[in-house]
Amino acid sequence: MAPIEVKEYEYIVIGGGSGGSGSGRRAASYGKKTLIVESGRAGGTCVNVGCVPKKMTWNFASINENLHAAKHYGYDVDANVAKNYRHFKELRDATVERLNGIYERNWGKEGIDLVHGRATFVDGRVIEVALEDGSKARYTAPHILIAVGGRPAIPDVKGAEHGITSDGFFEIEELPPKIAVVGAGYIAVELAGVMGAVGVETHMFIRGQEFLRKFDPMIQKTMTERYESSGIHIHKQHSGFKEVQLLRDGKGKDKLLKLISHDGSEIEVNELLWAVGRLPEIEDLNLPTASVQETESGHIVVDEYQNTSAKGVYAIGDVTGRAELTPVAIAAGRLLSNRLFGPNDRSDDKLSYDNIPSVVFSHPEVGTIGLTEPEARQRYGDDNIKIYHTRFTAMYYSVFPAEEKAKNPTEFKLVCAGPEEKVVGLHILGLGVGEMLQGFGVAMKMGATKADFDSCVAIHPTSAEELVTLR
Ligand SMILES: Cc1cc2nc3c(=O)[nH]c(=O)nc-3n(C[C@H](O)[C@H](O)[C@H](O)COP(=O)(O)OP(=O)(O)OC[C@H]3O[C@@H](n4cnc5c(N)ncnc54)[C@H](O)[C@@H]3O)c2cc1C
Repeated sequence: MAPIEVKEYEYIVIGGGSGGSGSGRRAASYGKKTLIVESGRAGGTCVNVGCVPKKMTWNFASINENLHAAKHYGYDVDANVAKNYRHFKELRDATVERLNGIYERNWGKEGIDLVHGRATFVDGRVIEVALEDGSKARYTAPHILIAVGGRPAIPDVKGAEHGITSDGFFEIEELPPKIAVVGAGYIAVELAGVMGAVGVETHMFIRGQEFLRKFDPMIQKTMTERYESSGIHIHKQHSGFKEVQLLRDGKGKDKLLKLISHDGSEIEVNELLWAVGRLPEIEDLNLPTASVQETESGHIVVDEYQNTSAKGVYAIGDVTGRAELTPVAIAAGRLLSNRLFGPNDRSDDKLSYDNIPSVVFSHPEVGTIGLTEPEARQRYGDDNIKIYHTRFTAMYYSVFPAEEKAKNPTEFKLVCAGPEEKVVGLHILGLGVGEMLQGFGVAMKMGATKADFDSCVAIHPTSAEELVTLR
């Protein structure tokens, strides 16, 4: 048999998602001969089954909330305006497909080669790609980036396969009348929130008393209460499911599942969504061959410069298990390419993982940056921490009946450290906070103090003004 030809590149990127694309494009901008290997669809998780379809679905759900608000403002809106979720899904799919095309066209325009297939290491310098036509090809480069992201975890429960994960959530064509969402992280909270807001009977199953356990206690408490008051059933301290039975196969209302808990309780639902975490997509890579070290959870070990344990092999994004967010993967990828291929003044580029702002597209949104109050107390000591807090009703809700106003709080917290009251944590929830956070993120990156916040003249009337007038 003839030896397989090994094609040479200056940079190989495994994974054409957020991080891989960002890094590959930056390398190509420095004139490097770059190859992207992608086993799925261009754009990766974010474009296909993450940020983009998620935010579009959040918009779809928010319109339902606005229709409800419209009644309070005097609009004669039918309480049950018909909605066509299948139509919305088709529009959303078309947007995603357009983005897939934009990604691939950009790579082509920038001289990046794209190979569709699954990559595996042959050694630390050579990868083999199983191509879609069943053949294999080999490639080599002095620099190889692993940017393969992750996939949703499915728990080891009998019949678990009858449920869906966030990937399957974006395949739903017909809304289920009743859904169970298992998990307490941001993806569970976002997708349960969407379902609740469009009128699906939503049941969340969480192990503790509150969800969003990695967030500031204010966010955990208020958001859990907010979800409950909006009609989402939260099954707290849940014992976990031991079995899922498929009672009826179908779509939407025609699918029926029975979920049996460890404590013996049972519930019937039309859909089950597992949102119990994500796993790094490393199985096919054959990492030991390349001497690339993994953590116990299977994430790739990297140093602050994204170097793995193997010389010339790097990793970025979700597969490293740090701050699993699209802009983090993109920034880490671009900075890595600056360091490897850019001018001398970029040769020390690396991403700072401090003060990364992030938003949960829940109902309402949550924004967070920096340390939670407990983290700040632990780092600086109780005596060196000052908390500023406010809770109010945003003007948008002023025409709502009193009981509904109470269900729609806006709440802000600033965590300040030291005598200069440096702002080390900012936690906000309420209408529009997702758009509010970015600017405050810049201020915190610049090391803003409480006095700096106060010196900025308020914009009136907004909710954001409360952040610069805290007492
Ligand atoms: C439901 C959901 C909502 C989210 N919402 C947000 C949000 O609002 N904001 C935000 O910032 N982040 C969000 N995220 C997270 C975000 O999507 C990820 O952090 C981001 O996509 C990580 O980028 P990445 O480059 O590391 O991996 P990915 O974007 O996942 O890309 C990895 C790529 O590698 C490919 N691949 C895997 N193995 C191989 C192989 N062996 N060979 C070749 N190719 C391979 C995959 O097909 C994939 O295209 C969300 C995630 C989910 C699941």
